[in-house]
Amino acid sequence: MSVSQRARNIVPSATLTIAATARRMRAQGIDVIGFGSGEPDFDTPDHIKEAAIQAIQEGFTKYTASGGIDELKDAVVTRLKRDNGLVYSRDQILISCGGKHSLFNVFQALLESGDEVIIPAPYWVSFPEQVKLCDAKPVFAHTHEHEGFRLHRALVEPLLNSRTKILVLNSPCNPTGAALTRSELQGLADLATEWGFWILSDETYDSLAYDGYQHVSIASLGDRVYAQTILVNSLSKAYAMTGWRVGYTAGPKDIIKAMDALQSQETSNPTSIAQRAAVVALTGAQEATHRMREEFDRRRRVIVERLNAMPGISCLSPQGAFYVFPNVSGMYGKHYAGTIIRNSTDFTTYLLETARIAVVPGVEFGSDAHIRFSYATSMSNIEKGMDRMAEAVRQLR
Ligand code: PLP
Repeated sequence: MSVSQRARNIVPSATLTIAATARRMRAQGIDVIGFGSGEPDFDTPDHIKEAAIQAIQEGFTKYTASGGIDELKDAVVTRLKRDNGLVYSRDQILISCGGKHSLFNVFQALLESGDEVIIPAPYWVSFPEQVKLCDAKPVFAHTHEHEGFRLHRALVEPLLNSRTKILVLNSPCNPTGAALTRSELQGLADLATEWGFWILSDETYDSLAYDGYQHVSIASLGDRVYAQTILVNSLSKAYAMTGWRVGYTAGPKDIIKAMDALQSQETSNPTSIAQRAAVVALTGAQEATHRMREEFDRRRRVIVERLNAMPGISCLSPQGAFYVFPNVSGMYGKHYAGTIIRNSTDFTTYLLETARIAVVPGVEFGSDAHIRFSYATSMSNIEKGMDRMAEAVRQLR
C-alpha cells in the first residue's frame, strides 16, 4: 500500500516548512528571527473582526452557497470597479478558501493532461505544484535580474506552442517584488490575444506597491484580453487576514460556473463568518491597509540598504509585495567550520544555525543564486536580523 504518484510528485510548501522550523526552534527556547513566512505581522483590523463577531452572534454560522454569499460577490464587484476600473457582474465572481484555493480551482477547471502553463521564474512556490496536480506541465519563463526580474513579451514568445493553455502573471511578484508596467502588460496581452491562451493574473499584492507604482490589471487593457483573463486576489495580505481564508476569482461566467461546481464537491463553501468579515474589509475604510503599506515601505528601504551594505550580497529594491530577493551567490565557495557553502540551501542552513535567522532558499522559487526574506516582520526584528546576518557573513572565509 502506498500513496499515489500524484501525491509523491508534490513538493511540500517550502515557505510553510521554514516557518514551521522557526516555530519549533522558538518552542525549544531558541531565539530565531523568522523572515520565512509571507504573513503580515499586523493584527486583522478591529472593524473586520467585529463583523465576524456579529456574524457569530446573529447565528450566521451555517453552510452558505458554495461559491460564496451574494453580499460578498457584490463587494468584490465594487472593489474591482473602485480599485482596478474593471466591470464584472455577480455571476463572474467566485469566493474560495483563500487565494491558493482560487488558483487551484482555476487550474482544475482549465487544464487537460499534457497542457502547458507558462510560469515566470522566479515564481511563487505553489504555481508549479498546482499545475503538476492537474497532470499538466509547468514551463518556466526565466526573467533576468539585470532587467529587474521583469516579464516581457520576448521572454514568453519562444515558449509558446499549440499546447500552451495558460500564462500565469503575478504582479507585484512574490518573491522578486517586480511589478509590471502598463506597456509590459500590453505586450503580454497582445501575445495572449494573438495566440489565444488564458491569462491567470494573480493580483494578491496589488495594494502593496511602492515608489509611486500604480498597479494595472491586465484585464483592463481591452475587451479581448478581458475575455481571456482570469483574475485572482486574496484578502490575506492586504487586510492581514491570512488565517481567515478568503480569496476570490473574477472571470468569464462559464469558467466561474465550472469552478463553483468543483468547489461544491471539494470544500462546500468558504467559512460563513469569514465571508461576512470580508464584506466589511472590502467595502469599509481602507486606512488600515494604507497604514500597513506605509510601514512595509519603511521596512523595505531599511532591509534593502542593510543587505546591500554586506560585501558579496546585492539586492534590488522591490516595487511591491513584502519580500526581498537578494543575490547571495557571492557567498558560494566560502566556508565555515570545515563546511563549504555551495548553494542557497547551504547558505540558509548556515544562517539558521549560526545567525538564528530563518529565510527561504531561492532554489525553491527557481533561482539558486538568491534567498528570500519576507519583511512582514517588525522593524526591530529586521534590524536585529540584519545585525546577525552581517556578523555571520563576516565570519565566512
Ligand atoms: N498568490 C501569491 C503570489 C502568494 O504569495 C500567496 C500567499 O503567499 C497566495 C497567492 C495565496 O494566499 P492565500 O491563500 O493566503 O490567499
